[in-house]
Amino acid sequence: MISLKPLSNDLCQCPRCGSNLTGGDVLITGMRNLLDASCEPCRASYYADLPSGHAIFSPVAIDKYTGEVFDPTNARWFSAILVRSVKDKQPEPVSIAFHRTQRHPKIVLLNCLDYLYGHCLLKLLNAQYYIDHRPEVACCVLVPKQLIHLVPDGVAEVWEVDLPLKNFRNWYISLEQQIRAEIDARETCYLSVAHSHPHASRYDLNRFTKVSPKPTKGIDSSPVIVYVYREDRLWGVSLTHQTKNISNLYERLRLAFPTLTFIVAGFGDGGAFTQGIVDERSTCFSLEQEQRWLELYASADCVVGVHGSNMLLPSGLAAHVVELLPEDRLGNITQDLLWPDTYTTGNEALYRVRFLVGRTDLHDVRSNLVASVVIHQLAAEQTFTSAATASLLPVDDRTGIFDTGPLVQRASEDRLTQLRIVRGYRSRLLQHPLTRLGFQMYQLKMLMGSAMKRELLSLAVNVCMATPRWYSIEKSIKRLRAPKGSRSL
Ligand SMILES: [Zn+2]
Repeated sequence: MISLKPLSNDLCQCPRCGSNLTGGDVLITGMRNLLDASCEPCRASYYADLPSGHAIFSPVAIDKYTGEVFDPTNARWFSAILVRSVKDKQPEPVSIAFHRTQRHPKIVLLNCLDYLYGHCLLKLLNAQYYIDHRPEVACCVLVPKQLIHLVPDGVAEVWEVDLPLKNFRNWYISLEQQIRAEIDARETCYLSVAHSHPHASRYDLNRFTKVSPKPTKGIDSSPVIVYVYREDRLWGVSLTHQTKNISNLYERLRLAFPTLTFIVAGFGDGGAFTQGIVDERSTCFSLEQEQRWLELYASADCVVGVHGSNMLLPSGLAAHVVELLPEDRLGNITQDLLWPDTYTTGNEALYRVRFLVGRTDLHDVRSNLVASVVIHQLAAEQTFTSAATASLLPVDDRTGIFDTGPLVQRASEDRLTQLRIVRGYRSRLLQHPLTRLGFQMYQLKMLMGSAMKRELLSLAVNVCMATPRWYSIEKSIKRLRAPKGSRSL
């Protein structure tokens, strides 16, 4: 926790000489938690990031008078936001709605404001630590309206701000002044370090979503698959391409699971999907819609979506995850996933979450490949679980015998289920008109290829055989035409 009142004098260092910045004011301007302070030896004043959120690893400072930017880790996306906000402070009034029973004298403030939904949520997950482990301070969360329903029980004060998320990049003067007044009114105030990617052991997602993953109906009957939809993170080169990919994915999955429920959830309304797809998209935010989506994710056997398309909650609630990962986001792998169980072993995590890497626009991640991954993931789950947990079964203490009978029987049944689903899929796939057309085209291509190869070979042989003959004929002709006595040939 970062002590704001009383204000610690070693929170930020001068980016030029390393001395502690002194005489500061705390400015919480939106997503930014800043110290407005000076360095005496350098005679300089700065706006410097307090070590909270992404600034723990990428602190930025700006010289207040020269405008020089100090970004030691070269986090340009982060420093650019600060530079813009300092240059263009917003004078318009922004109100905070306070939900509390009293103004607590000792607080820890968790600033969850951010211009990205995922960042807000990841910061909010830090609340659980203060609720469970720091009862001496009241936990206050500063949160966008869009996440108000995810605030867990036990938070003492909720400070709600109703603005579009993208606006939290800005420096709101009225927001800064209200928060400063709140801090001044307290006996003690800390700022949470708000880890940007809290460890799975630090949160229980169900305490935030208030929904628990539901036992699925079973792969054998009717799996539920949810495509997490966005129109600014496309699967394909265009929205039309994405719509076609999603429809094709559904058609393929239906070959393996004829009675599956396939749902598209997320913001947007472009394109029309194949009949049979349940369209749960929306064009605007509402708490009811958010709650509906949470219920859907929690009942899903698998969620599929593009990296960065609000995959945090779906990945934390669904049984399985397939993420389409553009190559330009390889450096951010796993950052948009939550983990429902801290005790998951490495192989279980690998089984549960699959990444399909493609080019930047994902045009090369084909729907048949995605379908195949989902089908094998779901069909083989029980077989995998039996094998992965067999060594955990108890041994009879008295006889020392490991009774494998029930295990073998269960594993055999699971294996047969897996084979039935996969074989059923392959057989229906072969019968599918598009597959048959594709196969015929392939055969035609091969045939034409063979025919062309035969023609080329024949031509080459003829040329080879004809060349000496032609050469000898030409030689004879030249000899006949040559004047008598000539020996030029
Ligand atoms: Zn200095």
